[in-house]
Order: sequence, then C-alpha cells, then structure tokens
Amino acid sequence: MAQGFKLKDENGITYLQLPLFRRIRHAFCTRFVGEEGSEAALGIPPGRLLTLRQVHGAEVLIFEENTRAALTYPLPYDAVITDKKRVALGIWTADCLPILMVDRSKRIIAAVHAGWRGIWRGVIERTVNEMMKTFGCSPADILAGIGPGIGPCCYEVGTDVVSLFQNSHDTPDQLIQEREGRTYLDLKRAAQLELSKTGIPLDNIETIPLCTACREDLFFSFRRDKKPGRQLSFIMLK
Ligand SMILES: [Zn+2]
Repeated sequence: MAQGFKLKDENGITYLQLPLFRRIRHAFCTRFVGEEGSEAALGIPPGRLLTLRQVHGAEVLIFEENTRAALTYPLPYDAVITDKKRVALGIWTADCLPILMVDRSKRIIAAVHAGWRGIWRGVIERTVNEMMKTFGCSPADILAGIGPGIGPCCYEVGTDVVSLFQNSHDTPDQLIQEREGRTYLDLKRAAQLELSKTGIPLDNIETIPLCTACREDLFFSFRRDKKPGRQLSFIMLK
C-alpha cells in the first residue's frame, strides 16, 4: 500500500522521509543539507555516520564492531547491514539509487548504493540474502525504500547496457523505454523487481518517484551537473 513520502524542511535542511518506516530514524537528503552540523540536525549522534567507499559493486559489509564509525569504511562496499544501535548507515548518491531497508521484528537495518552496475551485479539480492543468512530475517518482514535517483525520463543508456538488462531479465520491456531513437533505463523499476524477486512483498516497497536530473531545485545530479556533488541518505536504529 503506497504511503508516499514527506518533504521536511527544518533549519535550512530539506530531506525526505517515508511514513512506511514510521519510527525508524532515516532520511533521504536533498542538496540543501549544510556541511557543518547537519548530522546533528538529522539526529545522527556525533561521530556515528558510517559511509562506504562505493565502487558500483555487489559486496555487502556486515557492520559488527560497534566501536568504529564516523568514517568512510576503508574497503570497497556498496551495501551495509547492521543490528547495532546508534550507527547511521549512510549512502552517497547523485543519480544512482539509495535503498534503505529495515526488518522491524529482528531490528536489522541495511543501506544500499544501487546504480545499473550494482543492480546488474546483484547488490540488492545479495543484501537481502545476507539479512536472511546472517540475521535470520524473513523477506516478508523487510520494508524497503527506494530513494530519489535518475528517472527513465532522463536516464539515457547505450546499447551495451540495454543488452545486459535484456539478457538478464525476463521482462526487459518493463525496464527499457524507447523514445525518438534513444533508449532509457528505468532504474527504480529494476530495483523494485530485484527487491520483489527476493520475496519482499510489493506492499513493503516504497519508491520516491522524484528524478534527480529533473529536480535541480532539490537534488544534485551527475548527469545534469557533470561535476561532483552528492546527497546523503541514511538509516539508524535508536
Ligand atoms: Zn528526469
């Protein structure tokens, strides 16, 4: 059941939240997050933001040592899972998708960086599988939020990407759109399919439909800006 998203604006910080996640602390930030002090304003305790050295791969970090956070994890990972409290799992994106997940009954959270490469390499499926294997999660209990990312309106891809998705999906027509001789990939639809393939019910998946390239008023976009500038998304157990 789609519950949509809420746009919050507090002290010059603008971010999005999902009613689906209710009391779980989380945010999909926009470009309007001040560098200094924004972590505190978002409810992240000092020195408790963990981010990854994202490489568009499919490696999943299980964060277990609760002594170490507030840093970019030194090894390359594109997803992280934890059962630890008061550590914010952060993902940086500019067009790729930030995906946040929570299993309420087991009190497990996950954050995933998913562009076409990561999705094609199976980062979403591997994350859910790790949640099941390591923490005993059941897909039926997992809630997943797909954050702002580039939409099929703007995400033109080449024939190499098109054929990869055509060869790996039973229904590529759901992912690939053709307009005026150009091809576009629907990354969010691809992520939804990956999530539901793992057994997560459709009612447990919320997608923020905003396109980072269209919405210059809210988001950084690498495709549009051709320069660095990324927004943070995070989830944390209190
Ligand atoms: Zn767009």
